[in-house]
Amino acid sequence: MKPVAFDYERPRTLAEAVRLLSTNADAKILAGGQTLGPMLNLRLVQPTLIIDITRIAELTRVEEDGEAVTLGACVTHASIEDQKIVDPSNGFLAEVAHGIAYRAVRTRGTIGGSLAHADPAADWLSCLMALGAEVLLTGARGKRRIGVADFMRGALDTELEPDEIMDGVRIPKLSKKARAGFAKICRKSGEFADAIGAVLHDPERGVLRLVAGATQGRPIIIDPATCPIDMNFPPPLGPVRKKLEQSGLAADVYELNIHMAAIARALDKAHAQ
Ligand SMILES: Cc1cc2nc3c(=O)[nH]c(=O)nc-3n(C[C@H](O)[C@H](O)[C@H](O)COP(=O)(O)OP(=O)(O)OC[C@H]3O[C@@H](n4cnc5c(N)ncnc54)[C@H](O)[C@@H]3O)c2cc1C
Repeated sequence: MKPVAFDYERPRTLAEAVRLLSTNADAKILAGGQTLGPMLNLRLVQPTLIIDITRIAELTRVEEDGEAVTLGACVTHASIEDQKIVDPSNGFLAEVAHGIAYRAVRTRGTIGGSLAHADPAADWLSCLMALGAEVLLTGARGKRRIGVADFMRGALDTELEPDEIMDGVRIPKLSKKARAGFAKICRKSGEFADAIGAVLHDPERGVLRLVAGATQGRPIIIDPATCPIDMNFPPPLGPVRKKLEQSGLAADVYELNIHMAAIARALDKAHAQ
């Protein structure tokens, strides 16, 4: 199948992209096109206007302040894999990027496009929830900032308003002693995961966070505030398993077991650092 006919705009500024989006009810943002392309071809989406945001310089920015690094939404998976960015994560982001799809997909696919699409199996969602990152949104009514954990409402469902564009992702800097681990279970490398485990232990910043991703909805976040584990690392797996069981998102024993295996592997990787 082929897409329906649509108009195409390639603005050079974020303000112009927001103006186009807010004045065209059936417009769709195009970033790397790795997800939107197939959706257009299958006519799962039928926009009257495509707004290509890849020529907007602001969306490929890399900014650093004392506490965080902000990546523009159009920074590609490959740029992160190749460590062309300032890295707030002691190499963790590059490792996660390397596991996304195949190099051709990583060359075009963007961090913002992945988060905006909100596929529960997207690697960035689980990784960035573990890191405590925030997304930056710009719309006709101004700018706002929201944690990745709150940004995703559910499968393919986010807090993005119809007139909003994600312009960046703000990722806190890890301390030197922080340990992070990521494990993805899939049938073949280069595929979306059946289960994801992401772990961050950053005692200097008082953070211990485990994430079970590629569930049927939002990744499940496990930390001392929501689960009977303390800051000791690695945490006991019994309470973690119980929390996943109670979440209801791991639908059966097989699913629960592969999510526990992904978390255990991520913990092993982090512990080995
Ligand atoms: C073969 C294949 C294998 C893959 N495997 C994996 C995998 O293992 N792990 C993984 O995580 N991902 C995987 N992906 C997905 C890949 O990471 C895509 O890059 C990502 O899902 C979408 O990013 P994009 O930049 O291509 O967005 P696009 O396809 O351009 O857009 C996706 C959606 O987000 C919207 N959007 C894009 N950018 C913005 C923005 N800045 N603000 C608001 N809305 C926006 C678009 O309107 C569209 O609805 C795979 C894709 C393919 C084709």
